[in-house]
Amino acid sequence: MNREQGFEESRLEEVVKGIIEGRVKLHEADRILGNANAGALARRLALEKMLGVSLSSIGSTILDFEELVSRNIENPIGAVQIPVGVVGPLRVNGDYARGDFYVPMATTEGALVASVNRGAKAVTLSGGARTKIVYDGMTRAPVFWTPGIVEAVRLVEWVREHMGEVRREAESTTRHGKLRDIQVFHTGNLVWLRFVYETGDAMGMNMATIATEKAAEYIMKNFPGETRLIAVSGNMCTDKKPALINQLLGRGKTVIAEAVIKRDVALKVLKAPPEEIDYVNKAKNLLGTARAGSPSLNAHFANIVAAIFIATGQDVAQVVESSMGYTWTEVRNGDLYISVTLPSLEVGTVGGGTRLPTQREALSLMGVAGGGDPPGTNAKKFAEIVAATVLAGELNLLAALAANELARAHRLLGRGEAKKS
Ligand code: NAP
Repeated sequence: MNREQGFEESRLEEVVKGIIEGRVKLHEADRILGNANAGALARRLALEKMLGVSLSSIGSTILDFEELVSRNIENPIGAVQIPVGVVGPLRVNGDYARGDFYVPMATTEGALVASVNRGAKAVTLSGGARTKIVYDGMTRAPVFWTPGIVEAVRLVEWVREHMGEVRREAESTTRHGKLRDIQVFHTGNLVWLRFVYETGDAMGMNMATIATEKAAEYIMKNFPGETRLIAVSGNMCTDKKPALINQLLGRGKTVIAEAVIKRDVALKVLKAPPEEIDYVNKAKNLLGTARAGSPSLNAHFANIVAAIFIATGQDVAQVVESSMGYTWTEVRNGDLYISVTLPSLEVGTVGGGTRLPTQREALSLMGVAGGGDPPGTNAKKFAEIVAATVLAGELNLLAALAANELARAHRLLGRGEAKKS
């Protein structure tokens, strides 16, 4: 008997053999061995034998799959590890995040943490980043069929007239989810109802889906006309795909961070004058992005968002919309004003991957693990910290580009290299 994992070694060997010979399906190992950790070991050993590879590093993990199977993973074989670096102190003067923070970033991209850290130093030395959340709403947009446009309009009118009942049904599925709005989109005989919820400290995608399913059932049962639910997610939500609707109307949290970087800090820490940083931003982030036809006018929001998402157990596929946004700069009395706007930042401090032990520790580093008091305040604090870190990342990259160009210009002109080339 393997005491640690609670299964018979001989039984394990049988299951491994069964998987290799195709008699045991991968997902059956847990049930046969009576333990998800044993199931993971059986799958791993079978794969090692079948494919002639070693999976010992993947197998070396602190995770307890008994806790995670059916919630976070299926058919586990172990875990991958990603290094976590820390940025800070980063001063944030937010409505929820107030003080100096250390921000965990999980990445394998060398120089990223150092780069954001230098931006954080410049922000902090200049008094910190001011942050504001201007919108909070997780969305799910079911698409309904009707026979024609007259019935489609009737459906929408009926939903508006019965908003109280629709809200009651949706909110009956959750303690924290609150239905704030239903945004309507017609296309011929089809109608999208984009349900918008406040979801407390949860990112809220499951919560919003469960609530919307219940509301859609009520609509289908009680609407006196003819309608049919085609799909609970009609893609106007829009989850995990680049979409202008999220940029215009918001999804998750719309967060803005700004700072005024003092001239001497720009020169000493970032090695570039505000005018050069501002010029690089306008040429690169505004004109360059416009010329490329991208709607996301920034230098590298995704670098920062992805690294924080991985470290803190967010849904990583939502980096797609969470990293969209705009960087704006102005020169003010010789100092640099900079802001970043993230219209669709989808973050939570409860639910999903936030309950995994290392991810929870990463959240606790910023004082945002678990539910806030009152509910919702931890997720908002976290969103403000993410936006401030994105600001630091944008600032440093723009400054580095400006400084490199300046250094090159000095080299060329100062050393006469321009004449040689
Ligand atoms: P969740 O874990 O499904 O829901 C959050 C849970 O935490 C709810 O049971 C909620 O209870 C509870 N809770 C306790 N304290 C809370 C607080 N302070 N604030 C808010 N909730 C609190 O998480 P989710 O954020 O809704 O969904 C995230 C998961 O959805 C991720 O795993 C993600 O990968 C997945 N996902 C799902 C879909 C989909 O279509 N279903 C799409 C994309 C991603 P109450 O509900 O009673 O309030």
